Amino acid sequence: MSPGKVFGELAVLYNCQRTATIKAVTACKLWAIDRHCFQTIMMRTGLLRQALYTKFLKSVPTFTALNEEKLIKIADVLEETYYSPGTYVIRQGACGDTFYIISKGSVKVTMRESPNAEEKFIRTLKEGEFFGEKALQGEDIRTANIIAGEGTGVTCLVIDRESFMQHIGEIDDMKQIYGHMDDSRRKLNETFNAMKLSDLQKIATLGVGGFGRVELVQISGDTSRSFALKQMKKSQIVETRQQQHIMSEKEIMMSANCDFIVKLFKTFKDRKYLYMLMESCLGGELWTILRDRGNFDDQTTRFYTACVVEAFDYLHSRGIIYRDLKPENLLLDLKGYVKLVDFGFAKRLQVGRKTWTFCGTPEYVAPEVILNKGHDISADYWSLGVLMFELLTGTPPFTGPDPMKTYNSILKGIDAVEFPRDITKTANSLIKRLCRDNPAERLGYQRGGIKDIQKHKWFEGFHWDALKTRKLTPPIVPRVRGVLDASNFDEYPADAESPPPDDITGWDIDF
Ligand code: AMP
Repeated sequence: MSPGKVFGELAVLYNCQRTATIKAVTACKLWAIDRHCFQTIMMRTGLLRQALYTKFLKSVPTFTALNEEKLIKIADVLEETYYSPGTYVIRQGACGDTFYIISKGSVKVTMRESPNAEEKFIRTLKEGEFFGEKALQGEDIRTANIIAGEGTGVTCLVIDRESFMQHIGEIDDMKQIYGHMDDSRRKLNETFNAMKLSDLQKIATLGVGGFGRVELVQISGDTSRSFALKQMKKSQIVETRQQQHIMSEKEIMMSANCDFIVKLFKTFKDRKYLYMLMESCLGGELWTILRDRGNFDDQTTRFYTACVVEAFDYLHSRGIIYRDLKPENLLLDLKGYVKLVDFGFAKRLQVGRKTWTFCGTPEYVAPEVILNKGHDISADYWSLGVLMFELLTGTPPFTGPDPMKTYNSILKGIDAVEFPRDITKTANSLIKRLCRDNPAERLGYQRGGIKDIQKHKWFEGFHWDALKTRKLTPPIVPRVRGVLDASNFDEYPADAESPPPDDITGWDIDF
């Protein structure tokens, strides 16, 4: 490698092992940045940009009636455009639907009183000033010329009427039911109050997650029902600094009351482990079925995608992002309906706010997460497009031999991906509407919300109400012989690892 080349870039995204060795051949001078510093700068830049744009918007009279959340949302969709000195940004007499705020430089305003008259100088507009605001309310014939200033030109923040209208309505529609558990869910959890860990008997291993195993268990002596018990090593949670994520996983899964989300009934803890007692989904992982079948047809994919849309609708309307969509996290119940499991990355977000933690599975990560620009529920819509593609073809659209190559492929965008010819036109269109580079342009994230996805042509004729009431016949009905049958899961060898060390520091007191 010679001057101008970079290495170690994966390390600025997340904590990972080096994949190669780099050795100086001659005396070298390098520029280096560590992850913490890089991420702080990226986050600060994002937040400063948002704060500055919001401040600009506040000074515009048209926007005085809008609350902070709406302004932040508009600030997010403003696009920066540069005009070189002397360029006409707006021409008198032309039709316009775009609004501009000057972020750097200045413009000259000129007018002609009659078609043949000389252009007369009116005034200069500078940083923080704006023009074209009437265009946001309705089509506007421009009444003056706006010319980029001599010298450095002008940089403007631009928004057109369509995106303005698309974003402005959405926030009112959001139901914010923060931290609220409904009564029926609370009563259900209460029936487990008296249960002890020692009442549970292990039957088989269902899976192995990041922090430990998930076992199929039954209450001693009660063969009528079974549960999944997720066991997590406390020491490992602390080592990987996931304490906050685990607490949030518990809180969200314990209060969610939706047929498309696995229910958590009770938690336990001891000196070494945290435990989560969940409903068991014995149909196995969607991932296993996809692996065995290769890929799914349009109709099968539609059913599973629709289940995820219902789960996302439930979560997003409560301000929760999921952040870990993939076939491994979709489990089939006895009937063949799928449910979301593993809420280790789920998070509650306030309206208009973003979050910065780099997380998810490489193939499903949205570009703004890779670029550390801050992300919100729109990252889930990206992953929904990725899931559709993977279910239809058997492989995700963005892949590579290592995570860095996968991220490169994601940053090249969906238009660089070749779609197999048997993907229908409407499926192709929906995937592309979900996997837009710009989060604000993704279907589901606009004024119509998630209904825009339900109304898309690919879902035409789909019986959403029957899905919600579980009356729709699922495309694949798993073979399950009773509530203690774990045969739809892969087999796992007995746990050979020695037990983890004790952790009695008390960080888990609320778990
Ligand atoms: P997790 O650590 O939550 O990712 O779980 C690891 C694996 O355990 C999952 O991919 C499933 O195969 C299995 N699993 C987790 N929860 C359940 C459940 N409620 N019912 C059946 N299997 C489960």
